[in-house]
Amino acid sequence: MRFDIITVLPELLDGPLNNSILMRAQRKGIAEIHIHNLRDYSTDLKHRRVDDYAFGFSAGMVMQIEPIDRIITTLQCERTYDEVIYTSPDGETFNQDMANSLSLLNNVIILCGHYKGIDYRIREHFITKEISIGDYVLTGGEIPAAIIADAVIRVIPGAISDEQSALSDSFQDHLLAPPVYTRPADYKGWKVPDILVSGNQRKIEEWEHEQAVERTKRLRPDLLSSK
Ligand code: SAM
Repeated sequence: MRFDIITVLPELLDGPLNNSILMRAQRKGIAEIHIHNLRDYSTDLKHRRVDDYAFGFSAGMVMQIEPIDRIITTLQCERTYDEVIYTSPDGETFNQDMANSLSLLNNVIILCGHYKGIDYRIREHFITKEISIGDYVLTGGEIPAAIIADAVIRVIPGAISDEQSALSDSFQDHLLAPPVYTRPADYKGWKVPDILVSGNQRKIEEWEHEQAVERTKRLRPDLLSSK
């Protein structure tokens, strides 16, 4: 799967996208992430500006239409994209189901907004999906883009090993994950549940499922009703 991420702050994406599972997925050829600096497509050769004043009386700057048109058109001439995503607080709220469906796609553009956002005509003419990562406003779309890429790439088969299986994580099957423990089995008298050290795989699986259901009912009952 290929991501093309458009940003005015490429350095913000470097750390989150080039470590751990995401770095390994790229090395294994499971995912490609291409970061594009929108300023390279600015019409202002001297200052490389990509923002301008908002029409009307609103305060703040707006990302200009032309640099975004230039980069998206350039990318679309090179290949077909399944989605052109804009990260936006008023978009559809991101969740595991959305991450799972996006992981089935081949080529995706993510446009990171800044300032007051992007010229609305881009949203009308290019954007096919608008995603919010929650009901709060961040400074830019880079952290949302990194969150989307991370959640999507980790569920692509082969991105993570079997023992870390993404399918046993929270939200798959609309359940929260069961508690996990590691050695020592007894730390200062705080003991790991006996069942987990019993070696009985069937009973352990049953216990984990019961725990997942109990925690979901208690902490996130909304997940069970959204099944
Ligand atoms: N004026 C916009 C509004 O009120 O909806 C907020 C602009 S925000 C300061 C700048 C950019 O950060 C947005 O264009 C968007 O790309 C990104 N952003 C901020 N909060 C976000 C969120 N919750 N989810 C996704 N993207 C977000």
